This record gives sequence, C-alpha cells and structure tokens, in this order.
Amino acid sequence: MAKIVGLDLGGNSINVTAYDGSTFLIEGMAELPSLVTQGPETCIHQLHLGFQKALELTGWHASDVVAVGLDTPGPISADGVLCSKGATNFSGEGYWNFDLRGALAKTLGLPVSFLNDGNAAALYAHWKRFGNDPSKTSVSLIVGTGLGGGVVANGSVLVGKVGFAAELGHVTLPGDWYPDGTIPARCNCGKNSDLESIASLTGIELNLLPYFLPKYPGHPLADLPIKEAAKKVRGMAEKGDEMSRAIFRAQAWALAAHIDQMINVFDPDAIFIGGGVIEASEEMCAWYLEKIRESIPFREEQRDLAIEIVPDGDKAGARGAAVFALQRLP
Ligand SMILES: [Zn+2]
Repeated sequence: MAKIVGLDLGGNSINVTAYDGSTFLIEGMAELPSLVTQGPETCIHQLHLGFQKALELTGWHASDVVAVGLDTPGPISADGVLCSKGATNFSGEGYWNFDLRGALAKTLGLPVSFLNDGNAAALYAHWKRFGNDPSKTSVSLIVGTGLGGGVVANGSVLVGKVGFAAELGHVTLPGDWYPDGTIPARCNCGKNSDLESIASLTGIELNLLPYFLPKYPGHPLADLPIKEAAKKVRGMAEKGDEMSRAIFRAQAWALAAHIDQMINVFDPDAIFIGGGVIEASEEMCAWYLEKIRESIPFREEQRDLAIEIVPDGDKAGARGAAVFALQRLP
C-alpha cells in the first residue's frame, strides 16, 4: 500500500494526516503551529515537523512514505509557487515568488504535490462521496473567513492554467440575486457583489452587518466593534436572533444564485458546502441547506441534485491533499 502524508498549511496551524491508499490513519485533529509570520524558512521547518508528527502517530518510517500532499490558501500557482506579492497568509517579502512546494520537496527528499485549500477540501468531499468514479462531477463552496471553491469534473480536480481555477468566491453574482432589495457589497479583491462579498465572515463584516444593523434599531451587536460583532452573528443565529437569521438567509440567496450558475455550467452530481458556517448546530445547518435548496430555480430534471456538507470539517484539506498526492503518483 502507498504511504502518503498530507499537510494542510493554514495561517495559524498545520493539520497533518496519513493515508495508506484506502484509509486515513489519524482519526483526531493532529496539529502544530504553522508560524508562517516568521518567514519561509521557519514555515518549511514547521512543515517538516508536521511530516515527522505523521510518522510518530502512524509508526511509519520516513523511507516508507512515497509522496506528500501539501495544500494552503492561494492565490498560488498550480506548482505551489506564491504570487509576486505573496498571498493572504504569506505577506512578508520573503514569500514573494517563494516556491513553497519545491522547498518542501527538497527538504523532505520526496515528491510533493500541491493544491490550494479550497480545491483540496473539494477533492476530499468528492472522493468521500463518489470514490474514484470517473463519471462524477461536483462543486464545493467553503464558506469561511473568505469563500474557497473547488470543482471536481469527471473525477479530476480542476486546477486551471495557472492554478486559479474555481476561485468561486470572486465570481460576480447575478444582479437579481437578492429578492428583497439591493445590498451594496464590496470584496477585498476589489470587486463589487461577488460571492465572497456576501457568503463569508468577511462579507458579514464588510457588507451584511452594515446593511442589516440599521434595519434592527437597538440590536445588541450595534454596540460592538464590527469585527467582533461579525464573529457573533453565527452564534446569535443559532439562538434564533431575527437579524442574524436574515444575514444567513441573504447568504443562502447568494449561494443559490451562484449554484444556479454552476448547475448551468457543469450539471453536477453534487454540491458540497463547507467551512466555518457549517460548524453550527444541526438545526441551523439543516435550515441553511434548506434555504439554499429552496432558492435555486431548478429545472425539473436536476431537482434531485445532492446538496451536502463537506465531511470531516477541518481535516478535509489535509485529506484532500493526500488523495491528490496518490492520484499524481506514476
Ligand atoms: Zn472577491
């Protein structure tokens, strides 16, 4: 059996997994600090420690491992080279044009494959639901601080020419996405009214709270700094707060409008929703998925489309990276 280590490099931590070609051998969350702000050398060192952690937890020897899968948030090239101006988690000058994948491969002396984190989670959700069935297509939307996406078409994750495929958060929403008015929305990428500007924690902070708070005079979140208030919206929605539910209802409209576009492009077998938004109560998750589904203008033939939650939460990225590493082996 092929022994593969998966490493999901985030802004704060590295999540580690081990995959033998059929089973993931690390059940719980295995994490260590990523220390990305201390520069590329420290970051690569931490990834090396993550690799060793996988060996400790499985009893594998380094020489048993045939490949490593790495994933991290972009923008980053298909080969794992950071952009000329770094990326969200890698803003220091040392990261500009830094070959993250190549540096790790050199340090470990092993083949390292690379995916951005949205694509990795998408591949894992797809693989868990459909295995290696080459006839299946799915679209994943990861609603977190931003909005990460992934498309697996006929069993293969779409990476694109430069590695920017499925940046679904920055696809502009159709003009009539919200039926109850117009919500002015800007995104950190510079666009107006793209999916991330509504369906993300950043979207709640920048656009949804400023739109909804004045409609609910005396709301307790009005007294908090906006960043703090944004983080409390999910918890308040779980408890049934009317404004917080209206915020997530608006997100459901935006996701539905976007999914309608994806249905028309891909005619997929499944849509997967992941990220912080689905780390809510069971009732809240079911309500969110239901609101998304009832807002999609389905054609009769496509009405039974599966809309499901990305399984295994924060472990999906590392696991998807490991599945990809196995697929890339000769
Ligand atoms: Zn954007």
